[in-house]
Amino acid sequence: MPEEKRICAQCKEIQNELHHLLVCSPLADLRKSLLRSAALAIPNFDSLSLEHKFSEILVCTNVNVMTELAIFLRKADDLLRGSLRRTP
Ligand SMILES: [Zn+2]
Repeated sequence: MPEEKRICAQCKEIQNELHHLLVCSPLADLRKSLLRSAALAIPNFDSLSLEHKFSEILVCTNVNVMTELAIFLRKADDLLRGSLRRTP
């Protein structure tokens, strides 16, 4: 499916990896500790563009960031599956 046709059921925005990791609003709480770890490990993280934050997180070899990323992806997956189940 082309990216522009993939719409996030929660936000009604284009759903892609960047949206999932950094933008999707139902995941805001889950992503807080990932962003905190990233801000500690990646220089000037808070002033980077979304695209740059996304790529920096994915290539980051800091163990805290990698761990938080794995936790985020797992919990986000659980949360989104749960909300899909509740939707008829
Ligand atoms: Zn979303």
